[in-house]
Amino acid sequence: MNKILVTGGSGLVGSCFDNTIMVSSKQYDLLDFKQTLKMFDDTQPEYVIHCAAKVGGLGGNSNYKGDFYRENILINTNVIEAARVYGIKNLVAFLSTCIFPANVEYPLREEYLHNGPPHTSNDAYAYAKRMADVQIRAYKEQYGLNYKTVTPTNIYGPNDNFNLETGHVLPSLIHKMYLAKRDNTPMYIWGSGNPLREFIYSQDVADLTMWCLFNYNESETIILSNGFELSIKDVVNTLADVMEFKGDIIYQSDKPDGQLRKPTDISKIKKYLPNFQFTPIKDGLAKTVDWFYNNYPYIRS
Ligand code: NAP
Ligand code: GDP
Repeated sequence: MNKILVTGGSGLVGSCFDNTIMVSSKQYDLLDFKQTLKMFDDTQPEYVIHCAAKVGGLGGNSNYKGDFYRENILINTNVIEAARVYGIKNLVAFLSTCIFPANVEYPLREEYLHNGPPHTSNDAYAYAKRMADVQIRAYKEQYGLNYKTVTPTNIYGPNDNFNLETGHVLPSLIHKMYLAKRDNTPMYIWGSGNPLREFIYSQDVADLTMWCLFNYNESETIILSNGFELSIKDVVNTLADVMEFKGDIIYQSDKPDGQLRKPTDISKIKKYLPNFQFTPIKDGLAKTVDWFYNNYPYIRS
C-alpha cells in the first residue's frame, strides 16, 4: 500500500482522503522547519498531498493580509523543501483560482496565472500562493522531482471553517442561515448578490487531486472546476431551499462584493477526465448542511 501523507488533514479538503496519514497543526506546526522535518521523520511517507495553508474568505483575506502572506510563504517553503530533503519524488500542492490576475481575459486558463496583479482584496494571499507554483516548477527543473499543483475554484463541504467573518461564502452563509432560522431574525448577505462564482464539492476536489498525484505530470497547474458559474443570489436561494429558510434576506450594499467573476476554462481537466461526474450543488449543499446540523456547535469557526 502507498504511504500518502496529507498535510492539513483536519481541514475541508484534507479530511476527505481515505487510507492516508493525515496530520494537522496540533501535531506539527509547519511554520517551523524543524517540526516540518520531524513530521517526515515520524511518518516516513512515499507521497505527499499538501493541503495545509492559512485559508479564508473575502473577510479573512482582506483584514489579515500580513498573516496570510507570512504563514503561506513559510508553510509552503518548509513543506516542499522538507519533502525534497526526505527524497519524496511525488507531491501535489494547492493553488486557487482566486490568486489569478484581477484584470485578465476570461475564462481563466492555467497559463494566465502570473499575467498581472491579483485582486487587491486578497493580493497578499495570492502572491504567497503564486510562489508555491514558482517553487514547485524550480524544484521540478533543478531536481527532476514530480511535484505539481492543482487549482480548484471555491470549495465547500463538511469540516469547513464556518466563521462568520473570515470563512468562505458558503460556510458563512450556512452558519448565518442556521442562526437566523433559530433566532427568527433576518439573514444578511454581503454585497449585491451579483458576483459570480464556481463551486466545487470537497470530495470531488479530493478525488481529482488523488488522480492528479498519480497521473498528472505537467509543470503547469491544472484547474479543477465544473466550469459552471452561479451568482451569490442563486446560491442564497438554493441554500434557503435546502435549509427551508423562510425569513427575510437582506443584501448589504455597504459590504464588499470582491471580484465580480472569475470563470474558468476547464478544457484541460475535461481532456484528462472527460467522464468525471461533479457533485451537483444542491446535493453537495444538502450533505454539508446535514453535517453542520449534526456537528453544531462543535464546528470550526
Ligand atoms: P482549511 O479547511 O482551512 O484547512 C487548513 C488546514 O491547514 C487545516 O488542517 C489546518 O490545521 C492546517 N494548517 C493551517 N496552518 C497550519 C500550520 N501552521 N501548521 C500545520 N497545519 C496548518 O483549508 P482547505 O479549504 O481545506 O484548503 C486546502 C487547500 O486548498 C489550501 O491550500 C487552500 O489554499 C486551497 N484552496 C481552498 C479553497 C477553498 O475554497 N476552501 C479554494 C481553492 C484552493 P488545523 O486544523 O490544526 O488548524
Ligand atoms: P472569494 O471567492 O475569494 O471572493 O471569497 P468568498 O468565498 O469569501 O466569496 C465572496 C463573495 O461572496 C463576495 O461576492 C461576497 O460579497 C459574497 N458574500 C456574501 N455574503 C458573504 C458572507 O457572509 N461571507 C463571505 N465570505 N462572502 C459573502
